[in-house]
Amino acid sequence: MNSFSENLVFDPPIIRRFDVNGPRYTSYPTADRFVETFNADSSKHWLRNRTSGASRQQLSLYFHIPFCNTICYYCACNKIITKDHGRSAKYLKYLGKELALQSSYLAEGDNEVAQLHWGGGTPTFLAHDEMRQLMASTRKHFRLVDDGEYSIEVDPRKVDRATVEVLGELGFNRMSVGVQDFDESVQQAVNRIQSEAETFAVIDAARANGFRSISIDLIYGLPRQTVSGFKRTLDRIIAASPDRLSIYNYAHLPSLFKPQRRILESDMPTADARLQILSMAIGKLTDAGYVFIGMDHFAKPDDELAVAQRQGRLHRNFQGYSTHSDCDMLSFGISSISKVGPSYCQNVKTLDEYYERLDSGQLPVFRGIELDADDILRRSIIQSLMCHFELSLESVEAEHGIDFRTYFAPELAALREMVQAGLVRVEDRRIVVLPPGRMLVRAISMVFDKFLCADRESKRYSKVI
Ligand code: SF4
Repeated sequence: MNSFSENLVFDPPIIRRFDVNGPRYTSYPTADRFVETFNADSSKHWLRNRTSGASRQQLSLYFHIPFCNTICYYCACNKIITKDHGRSAKYLKYLGKELALQSSYLAEGDNEVAQLHWGGGTPTFLAHDEMRQLMASTRKHFRLVDDGEYSIEVDPRKVDRATVEVLGELGFNRMSVGVQDFDESVQQAVNRIQSEAETFAVIDAARANGFRSISIDLIYGLPRQTVSGFKRTLDRIIAASPDRLSIYNYAHLPSLFKPQRRILESDMPTADARLQILSMAIGKLTDAGYVFIGMDHFAKPDDELAVAQRQGRLHRNFQGYSTHSDCDMLSFGISSISKVGPSYCQNVKTLDEYYERLDSGQLPVFRGIELDADDILRRSIIQSLMCHFELSLESVEAEHGIDFRTYFAPELAALREMVQAGLVRVEDRRIVVLPPGRMLVRAISMVFDKFLCADRESKRYSKVI
């Protein structure tokens, strides 16, 4: 057993035992539970009936930019590989239409934005003028508050100092930088060749241009990855001192994601090697002073995510952990998911459908869900476990008008094995995820997911670790 800090214990036998397939819970219910009877009209209804008056919440906006220049073989995102910038020019035109359409359904004055994110694909596929154009259309319909969180995913292979300057001018103040692994052999195996120099140049430029938070994304479990190679990557990354780090698990599901078929099975690390890599990574990060936030995420103790967690204000949304998830989220572009009031909806996944819907003046929504009282209750439980490693039974009972032990008798029974293994403690007034259970918080949360009862072992989800 490795004890990394008072809040995290890494115990390989326990992890092996409880490592089941599971979703990441950036929403509950998860997107695969959305239904097509929830359509553009349903979405319009919720936009029109968003909170009003004094209780109106600020908004969070998400833009999906699906284009990438080259394919990374591990990728499971919804992206379009192209070098043709004519395609992004057309897409931007339609993002402008969607901005106008969605905002037209909001009440007068309901346009205040506290959080904005460009994700992909590769948002930095866009030319400087295209970036300016998208931000100008956004500001035409929404008011971005001065102290908001405005973030972008950056691929350092496509970004120079001038691009970072443009992003700073446009108001971006947070950046997440994709790295994955600096090991050249791993980079060749996944078709993503990215030098340390170009990566650190982007980070330096971001700091020089007033970016307040820099996050680095790494992946463990990639082909040809080794403990010593990934250790070297981490040494270089820690020296660059990012505010946050994400270490995602590579889920090798070639039957679902075509590009992954180009990864040789013989290059894949064994389950034991993956655990060793993860164990080393967590040890290094905690030794370097990073705090485990939960679900792959680490932050410096003074970073606002770590502060929000200490103060009980942390939330989880489609971008992962957030200090702002009270916001409704309006999303734009193909496959993007919005959250408005007690509803989620997802846009169509192809460009042709997207253009066709917008040409006919329709919101490009193809499925969604209206949460019932039970969904809302379970969502709040999963949020609390994932963000705070603890659940106050009293608060849940007061807020949702239930008797917890009666309502969740089957779930409490299902938790018993985890309680006996020391992952969780069920007290009179609260449930606490103990340090050995924190790496497994997804598996613990799954106990409260009513949709998973029937197919908990489904192969559709990535392994927890
Ligand atoms: S990993 Fe990112 S950059 Fe690579 S293909 Fe997927 S979306 Fe594009």
